[in-house]
Amino acid sequence: MSKNVIIILIDGGRLDRAKKFNTFKNLESNSIFFPNSITYAPYTTGAMHAVFSGCYGNRTGTDSYWHIYQFRKNQFLTLTEYLKQNGHYTFADGHSELIIPKQGFDEFNIHDENKVDLIDHHSNLLSKMKDIENKGKNFFLFLTYSNIHTGIMNNVLKVFNNFSKEYFENKYENEKRYDELFKNADTYMEKILQKINELEFDKNSIIVVLSDHGISLGEKFGERAYGAFCYDYTIKTFCYIKSPEIEPKIIHQQVRHVDIMPTILDMLGISLSENHENLDGISLMPVIKGTILDEHVAYSETGNPLDENAPPKEPNIHSIRTTNWKLIYNSYNNSKELYDLKTDPDENNNLIGKELEIEKILWNHLLKIKNKNF
Ligand SMILES: [Zn+2]
Repeated sequence: MSKNVIIILIDGGRLDRAKKFNTFKNLESNSIFFPNSITYAPYTTGAMHAVFSGCYGNRTGTDSYWHIYQFRKNQFLTLTEYLKQNGHYTFADGHSELIIPKQGFDEFNIHDENKVDLIDHHSNLLSKMKDIENKGKNFFLFLTYSNIHTGIMNNVLKVFNNFSKEYFENKYENEKRYDELFKNADTYMEKILQKINELEFDKNSIIVVLSDHGISLGEKFGERAYGAFCYDYTIKTFCYIKSPEIEPKIIHQQVRHVDIMPTILDMLGISLSENHENLDGISLMPVIKGTILDEHVAYSETGNPLDENAPPKEPNIHSIRTTNWKLIYNSYNNSKELYDLKTDPDENNNLIGKELEIEKILWNHLLKIKNKNF
């Protein structure tokens, strides 16, 4: 038999909180921890379509809230489809059917994010997977922890806009609200990992825990939650991968969320389809085994609504990132920003136009990916 795959999405989970709360910290010491994993898009749909396809949304078609159904199914196979072809029973649970590509799922369950007890609900789904395993079949289970998103939706998105002064002037309140939400996520993680161990899935499954994007606590005026900018507090997020034969370690070099899918396939020995487009992501197995890989740039983009009530149809902010540098291109007004992430992790000191060689290098990378010029 092959291995099962369990993916747990902590929607809106911030990296700094994951490094602070107990269960996530424990997970850090018994898995492969990627504390420098860059999401393609700082909002769920764009981020997760990229995770599932191993490709940036500007190639798959899903590069904005408006383009969820424009995912090019015939050109890009999803992780789910690969696993289904490999004989896995495929099951997803989330608060909306829009968050991930649906193709390839045997079952897709939608929970009511305002009512559900996710610990109970997901524990039951894990038990259901045991029945499937007992029938001699592997499974792929995708679980969404939606409560951070729900709390932010009800207490931030519906209360403030991107330019509400009272939001940005109350950072302490924002931190406190978010900490409460993350504390619950930590308890959820603890119970779900216990259940996974109880069912002995830790012995025969690849377990991935990741966040799709972070959430603003008021760092930059003009973004009260996520999806408006490409700064690190939303695009630099976390991923943990656990598999019985893999030694825990921390991978400090930058990786991308588009690398997760090819890594899982590589771990299962599933080869990529030759009848579909090439991936943007690469398998991280060599890095996991200790080889130092050349760094690959990470591309992200989003649609900032600016003064409008809804985001634009096409992305209007794009960023290209290495471990130490980031260039942001604001295509809505043709401006650029350049940050030295090593000395300026909060991205306050814009170094654009200072004749730094890196500016040109990153700009060329950005144009190449943005214009799909390979
Ligand atoms: Zn999300």
